[in-house]
Amino acid sequence: MLRLRCRILNQLQRGFFLSLLTYQKGVFTFIMYKNNNIETSDKSTPKILEDKTKSGKERDWKGKKRRSILTAEHFEKAGLHSKAERMKDCATQLVFKHTGEALKLYQAWFCKVRLCPMCNWRRSLKIAYHNKRIVETVNERENVRWLFLTLTVKNTDAESLPETISAMFEAFRRLTKYKAFKTSVRGFFRALEVTRDRDTHITEERYKKNPSYYKRQGLSVGDENPNYGTYHPHFHALLCVPASYFKNKDFYIKQSEWTSLWQKAMKLDYTPIVHIQKVKPKEKLDELETYEKDLKKAMKEQNAILEVSKYPVKDTDVIKGNKVTDENVETVLALDDALAYKRLIGYGGLLKEIHKELNLGDAEDGDLVKISEDDEVANGAFDVIARWHIGLKNYVIQGD
Ligand SMILES: [Zn+2]
Repeated sequence: MLRLRCRILNQLQRGFFLSLLTYQKGVFTFIMYKNNNIETSDKSTPKILEDKTKSGKERDWKGKKRRSILTAEHFEKAGLHSKAERMKDCATQLVFKHTGEALKLYQAWFCKVRLCPMCNWRRSLKIAYHNKRIVETVNERENVRWLFLTLTVKNTDAESLPETISAMFEAFRRLTKYKAFKTSVRGFFRALEVTRDRDTHITEERYKKNPSYYKRQGLSVGDENPNYGTYHPHFHALLCVPASYFKNKDFYIKQSEWTSLWQKAMKLDYTPIVHIQKVKPKEKLDELETYEKDLKKAMKEQNAILEVSKYPVKDTDVIKGNKVTDENVETVLALDDALAYKRLIGYGGLLKEIHKELNLGDAEDGDLVKISEDDEVANGAFDVIARWHIGLKNYVIQGD
């Protein structure tokens, strides 16, 4: 009797696994079809969304959506349920207009959670477009040079991160009011970025960057990293200065002066690390996958500025790897709290005026459907609707 029951159970289990396998195999076979570009007349085979830029590069809707779902799972585990729900619904349905060869996003719902990878991709595209327009306009009208400024403070733990960030915003405001800044800087774009130190041990690369720091503490390669798990908030700023900045003593601010200005603004009892450098035209921008090729070209011509023209929350900084981990949940909790209701990007002076004049809108909390003026859709274009398919983990075109 017992043996019989076991046999039935075995068969039941085997049956269950078989159907699971068949299902998985079905998906697998389908993906093989896609990769081999075999067209099939079978109406029941889902058609996968393909959205390409003018230069033929695939827009990574699927990848961003997968990362958003993974991030939402971390939010869920962190107990941030309503944000998790919103993020899971982010860009679940995309309505495009089909114009000529191209698809133009026309309707979608974006969750706008600060740490959402999907939303931050859209924000980055929008900021890159805005900064391109602003820099072009400034360069047309004025004879200026562009500088990158990085302002840092010591790493902090999760608990004091919110107050550190508030103090940094306050300090940046103070900095822009100083006479030296007002005299030399005609306008700026600034972005607050927070990264987390994830190295459990001191790697050779780390050690080489700052040997005296480790020597002082009697530490060497392979030892535990004293900063493991801490957060590193810092500002990236793009500054617009008069063309005579480097020649005119009234304008020029040395690196050491930038450092002491920031130390004073931030009221620090130590010397912070501050970088200032001229913006040089960049030929190699491959690593900046966020930007589309035509935009890259224009940016290169404008000697600019991609490094800061993006949304400063990097999805790989928040969620490391492809699994839900306690460390990632911790990061989500800390950053969600510290960045809530904060405007991570901002413009000042001439750049703010031109942003307003060009009527560019809010890249952070505003519309994430329409990125640029080119996204205006002609009448008569027909709709293409793509819906997220949970099983396929991809966008499927809705049949007509
Ligand atoms: Zn979102």
